Amino acid sequence: MAGEPQADCLFCKIVSGDVPATVVKETDTTVAFRDINPQAPTHVLVIPRVHYPDAASLAVAEPQIAADVLREAAEVAAQDKVDAGGYRIVFNTGSGAGQTVFHAHAHVLGGRGLNWPPG
Ligand code: AMP
Ligand code: ZN
Repeated sequence: MAGEPQADCLFCKIVSGDVPATVVKETDTTVAFRDINPQAPTHVLVIPRVHYPDAASLAVAEPQIAADVLREAAEVAAQDKVDAGGYRIVFNTGSGAGQTVFHAHAHVLGGRGLNWPPG
């Protein structure tokens, strides 16, 4: 069924607790944890508990949960006190854009200068 956990998905395993993560915030629908290879002083991933391969397919199937991910991205930025300085929310979509884990996730990056365009 759409949204069901996938046995071969790393982030489904983080949701279930089978793979450990440094969780910084949880809600009924989302989990936020520190990226294992941080690209900024704050680099947190916010994921839905349900499995969809990317942000757009999540938004089509579960728009409220897509909104939850965005709200939690802002909450995590505030919790890490990077909101005043500005932060970036990134959804890499497709392997050509650097997506390596095909479970929707928002990168929340902050705490350093963020150039635009990001490259
Ligand atoms: P993306 O390349 O957009 O698919 O992002 C996947 C992100 O997951 C990368 O930034 C990785 O560093 C991160 N990542 C991979 N494995 C783990 C893990 N076990 N715990 C936390 N972050 C991870
Ligand atoms: Zn998954």
